[in-house]
Order: sequence, then C-alpha cells, then structure tokens
Amino acid sequence: SSSRSAVIIIGAGVSGISAAKVLAENGIADLLILEASDRIGGRIRKESFGGVSVELGAGWIAGVGGKVSNPVWEIAAKFGLRTCFSDYSNARYNIYDRSGKIFPSGIAADSYKKAVDSAIQRLRELESDCVVDVPNGAELPSQVPQLIIVFLCLNAEKKVEPISTYVDFGEREFLVADERGYEYLLYKMAEDFLFTSEGRILDNRLKLNKVVRELQHSRNGVTVKTEDGFVYEANYVILSASIGVLQSDLICFRPPLPRWKTEAIEKCDVMVYTKIFLKFPYKFWPCGPDKEFFIYAHERRGYYTFWQHMENAYPDSNILVVTLTNGESKRVEAQSDAETLKEATGVLCDMFGPEIPTATDILVPRWWNNRFQRGSYSNYPIISDNQVVNDIKAPVGRIFFTGEHTSERFNGYVHGGYLAGIDTSKALLAEIRKYERENESKSFLL
Ligand code: FAD
Repeated sequence: SSSRSAVIIIGAGVSGISAAKVLAENGIADLLILEASDRIGGRIRKESFGGVSVELGAGWIAGVGGKVSNPVWEIAAKFGLRTCFSDYSNARYNIYDRSGKIFPSGIAADSYKKAVDSAIQRLRELESDCVVDVPNGAELPSQVPQLIIVFLCLNAEKKVEPISTYVDFGEREFLVADERGYEYLLYKMAEDFLFTSEGRILDNRLKLNKVVRELQHSRNGVTVKTEDGFVYEANYVILSASIGVLQSDLICFRPPLPRWKTEAIEKCDVMVYTKIFLKFPYKFWPCGPDKEFFIYAHERRGYYTFWQHMENAYPDSNILVVTLTNGESKRVEAQSDAETLKEATGVLCDMFGPEIPTATDILVPRWWNNRFQRGSYSNYPIISDNQVVNDIKAPVGRIFFTGEHTSERFNGYVHGGYLAGIDTSKALLAEIRKYERENESKSFLL
C-alpha cells in the first residue's frame, strides 16, 4: 500500500514531537509520524517500579535558575510536573571505601578538588574528550582511590569547557518525580496538534511499531519503507533517530549518504548511561537531603560507583538507584539481572555491612542493546569544532535531520532535543517556502 504525505517524521521522541508541532502550527497538517517502538517518548520513558514511577531515560530537567529560562522547565511548570531539587555537590562528602568507611569530609573535599584539577590537566594534555585512563597517580592524594578519579573525569569534562546548558539556563537541576512521568510533557505537547482522548493519542497520523528500514530519496521526494512491508511517500522526511542508530545499519539510505555526512556521524561518540533501580523492604542507608547521593570507591573503574536514594522524590519508597556508564553499562546489559543484583548487593554490603536485606526487585534498562537507541546520548569530542555537529545536522536532499545530537549547544539533553526539533522544522519550512516561490506552485500541500 502507498500514500503520500507532505512530511514524514521518523521517531516520536521529544525532537520528533516538537518538530511535528511546529509544522502543524505552520499549516502543514498533512504529516505522518512513524515510530519504531510501541510508544512515544523515546529516551523519555517511565516505568512502574516498586510502587512508584521511575524514569529509565531522562530523569532531570537540567539547567534551571539562570538568566534565560529553560524551555523544558517552562513547559513543566505550565503542566504542573512534580519535580525535586537535586544537589549533587554533597556526593563528595559521602564517599565510601570498600570497608564501609566514609572519607573524612575535609580530605574528601580537598582531594576532590585536586582530583578534578588533575583530571582537567590530563584531559588537556591528551586533547581528549573521553573518560581517560587513570591520571598521573603521583599528583594525587593517596586517600582518594583512583576509581573515584576516573569517575571525576566525567565531571571534569564539563569544566574544561563550560557546558552551555548551565551557562545559558543556570546551574540547578530538578529531578522529575511525577507519577505521570517526564513523558507527560510530550503527551501535552502532542495534544496541541494530534487528536487525543483521555490522555491517549488516537490520531492516525501517528503510527507506532513502524520500524523504518529504508529511505530512498531523489529530487522529487522520499520513499520510506518499513520493516512490516509498508511503503510511504513524502515530499520531505525529518529523521530523528539517535546518533547510535545512525551509526548502525538499521536504516539504509538509497543513494547512500555522502561521505561528509557519514564521516561526521562516525566522529560523534555515543555515551551509554544506565540507571539500575533496586527496591528494598526497608531503608538501611543514611537519609536526609545531604545524603541523597553517595559514591562507592572500588579498584575497578566505574564499578557501581554512583548511588542515589529516592527518599527525596518518593518518601518511603525504599528504592536505590545506581548509575553505570559506558563499559560497565555494556557489561551489565549483557548479563542476567540476577547477576547484576548479586554484584550490587555485594557493593551495598561493603558499604553498609552484611546484615542488609536483599532487594525484592531490580530494574536494568538496556539502552545499548535497544536497536532503536544504541546508546543513551551523543557526546561530541571536546576538540571537535562546530563543523561536525553542523554536518550531522545538515539536510541531504529532502532528508532533514533532527534529535538531541543535532543541537549545537544542548546535545545530550531533553531541551536539546526539544529545541533541535523546532530548529529543524523551521529550516524545512524555509526550504518549502523557497520551493513554492521558485515553482510558483500552490500545489505543494496537495
Ligand atoms: P529519542 O528520544 O531517541 O527519539 C527518537 C525516536 O526515534 C525514538 O522513539 C526511537 O524509537 C525512534 N526510532 C529510532 N529509529 C527508528 C526507525 N528506524 N524507525 C522509526 N522510529 C525510529 N536528558 C536530560 O535533559 N536530563 C537527564 O537527566 C537525562 N538523562 C538521561 C538518562 C538516560 C539513561 C538517557 C538514555 C538519556 C538521558 N537524557 C537526559 C538525554 C535525553 O533523554 C535525550 O537527549 C532526549 O530524550 C533525546 O530525544 P530525541 O528526540 O533526540 O531522541
């Protein structure tokens, strides 16, 4: 079967939804959204766990409290999304070693600063962006296990070049703690241009479970083929698949993408970031706002390092979250949840003693192995110039690109995806207007 639309938007994450909304607001109602999974939201995704809603993907509205207002924060305020202020800065005072001792706060804070300075220095020397090897140990106070230092490199990265999110929108971060989930914002955005009823989208311009496998493009339009054998025709396509998906072979382009495009796509790194949720029958960890985040120091790099309790967000939920990244994320994704639970329990026993209760439930998201994601978010090498992101964003014929990875200033964030969607649609609208002028044709929308 075949039909023709003015614009097909591939992906119903925040960028796809915001792109579609801008088109609809500008008179392009003849659009079609094809989404591979069985829901909207993409990397904004809630799940019920241990009696509350937890966010498997984006959890924070980052960049709040500055001179300019974060647009996602404004939308959240408009729709009354429940959030909690997060203060990571205390984590440095809650560093446990393997025997459960907490590093004295003075030493921990001082070492933290030294470690960060040293990590920044090291990053500069290497002209590298990634989590580097353990920095020169000689410069580091012996009290701080090198493990922590590697973890700190992640944060240090942020300080080598100021992060636009914090510069523009402010330094504060708010955890989304709403039973309706972060994704509630997307439903509210969709309501403006799609037919919905009782919180459900019933508009047939949104098609779920449509995995796009081929984009055949020419001067006249784009033919989109999906895994279930359907063929859709469009004048233009907006593609919002993640950088990890673009690096994979999920979507075949005919003709193939030009070299400048594929080379740029290869240059952008994919971060994997995993939040593992653990539910307990009762609390055995210290509570209070200044204890929300704590760090476990182990010889192995990134081994169950960063912990958070959910008592601020959901009192008495008795849930802990541990964050893994990159190599550790991939390792844990490949093993059974039972094994992961065993490892996490071992770490908690080191910190809090052998008498702690076993978790009654565990949730391990698998963003790396999800073929519609292939990672958590884009990470541009610090050294790369704007050319890389501009090439990733640049249209190829009638295919326009969007998604957090196309945001020059805010890649890796929800607001990056949101603003990228708006940007891409504006660029496409300009192109359409130009085409109409040149062809003096009013038939475009037909
Ligand atoms: P996506 O949400 O990935 O949307 C793309 C959509 O395209 C998906 O729905 C996908 O299913 C679909 N798709 C892919 N391939 C195809 C295909 N072939 N055919 C059809 N459809 C396809 N950001 C923050 O601001 N704060 C945070 O705290 C935060 N934490 C994060 C934690 C994790 C674990 C992760 C994974 C991300 C986090 N982020 C955070 C980043 C944020 O979630 C993303 O930047 C943002 O949601 C990306 O939106 P997007 O529209 O660009 O992509």
